Amino acid sequence: MSIILLDNVHKSFGALKVLDGVSFSVNKGEVFAIIGRSGSGKSTALRCIDRLEHIDQGRIQVCGHEVSDPRLDLRQLRRDVGIVFQSYNLFPHLTAAENIALAPRHSKGKTRAEAKELTARVLAQVGLSDKAQSYPEQLSGGQQQRVAIARSLAMEPQVMLFDEVTSALDPQLTGEVLKVMADLAAGGMTMVLVTHEMAFARNVADTTLFMHKGRVWEQGGPGMFERPQTAELRQFLAAGL
Ligand code: ADP
Ligand code: MG
Repeated sequence: MSIILLDNVHKSFGALKVLDGVSFSVNKGEVFAIIGRSGSGKSTALRCIDRLEHIDQGRIQVCGHEVSDPRLDLRQLRRDVGIVFQSYNLFPHLTAAENIALAPRHSKGKTRAEAKELTARVLAQVGLSDKAQSYPEQLSGGQQQRVAIARSLAMEPQVMLFDEVTSALDPQLTGEVLKVMADLAAGGMTMVLVTHEMAFARNVADTTLFMHKGRVWEQGGPGMFERPQTAELRQFLAAGL
């Protein structure tokens, strides 16, 4: 059952064509990785799914919402879709727990007790139960990113989108964030992730899509990494990016 569907999506920024007829679908429970060179349109594709960008042509459906319909209720879409970026953007004057509880309290109308329970649960999920009362500046980059993931999870989304969430981190901190994402995947979360971590895509993703020049150039299972069909993907993988 497809929970995300992009059908012939086109998007330009001025004269620059960034998405040139992109189509793909993601099933419930699937881990879907998007790889490709810088500038190939990966982030834009992800941002269109959450309607952070409007599309020019085509159709996007997410969790039963017609994302490309101008009448879409954005609050309903955002309730079902969590998105995490490279920059964690935690509020510096709030503790980890307070950062996490904010949206459930205000956007989902959770009571203080419900939010507290939820916060404890998602902090445990990202392995940070002992850091509930810490402020962002007291946490490492990897820990801050895990709080940002927990904050998204606290909205109880159907789908999680990740845009290069480890790119700003040292290799050793990258590992702890990838571990959290692998655990989420094992727990059945539907995930779309843009990543430079080829080993993670190969080991964890059910499907990997290679974008090139705003198009879906190649798509496949883990075997795609051993047997790329196009010269462009071969080159991309050989460059070790
Ligand atoms: P990727 O994530 O694969 O690196 P992006 O989707 O971020 O690629 O960007 C694709 C192209 O679109 C790039 O050339 C980028 O400079 C351009 N672009 C992205 N966002 C904007 C924007 N808001 N305005 C103008 N150009 C943009
Ligand atoms: Mg990007």
